Amino acid sequence: MRSICVFCGSNFGAGEVYSDAARAMGGRIAARGVRLVYGGAKAGLMGVVADAALEGGGEVVGIIPRALVEREIAHPGLTDLRIVESMHERKALMADLSDGFVALPGGAGTMEELFEVWTWGQLGYHRKPVGLLNAAGYFDRLLAFFDHQMAERFMRPAHRDMIVADSDPDRLLDRFDAYVAPTVTKWIGRDER
Ligand code: AMP
Repeated sequence: MRSICVFCGSNFGAGEVYSDAARAMGGRIAARGVRLVYGGAKAGLMGVVADAALEGGGEVVGIIPRALVEREIAHPGLTDLRIVESMHERKALMADLSDGFVALPGGAGTMEELFEVWTWGQLGYHRKPVGLLNAAGYFDRLLAFFDHQMAERFMRPAHRDMIVADSDPDRLLDRFDAYVAPTVTKWIGRDER
């Protein structure tokens, strides 16, 4: 893993625990000599993760749509800030520049980004790991819903298992290093057991 993309909230969340987790993630990415790729904003946990990686001496690339430069406040201190014309361009460039994707606690924007890279992986568009930093159990109910989707046969176990969830940043990144993408197709036959 030379480059990791982090998706996370443009808000801070309700407790210091979320900022602590974002700080730990950014710090560990930098300490492992990995480049951080993220949405380029200073707002919320996005700013926290970027600041922690920069403080740890890491390289940080931010990618932000022009229309959000002022609203999300583009981070002025990044190694490289790329301003793009659309959200689609942002996500495509973040995906191209990264070897794996981690979602930290966040809102609808974070979920949208997570689901897009996961579904691209399911379809075989890429073979990169996708994970969740499950800080303070924030994603427990989402993970339980994924289990429900699998139990109800809308998702294969191999595709459910693509999501690497861990509360510890280093363990999560170790599991990324060991990740092997599934090779099964997305579609489950009616009579398949
Ligand atoms: P949120 O988790 O809602 O705080 O948003 C986190 C990040 O996701 C912010 O940088 C948002 O600009 C971004 N975002 C919001 N909506 C979308 C979207 N449709 N596609 C990609 N990113 C988005």
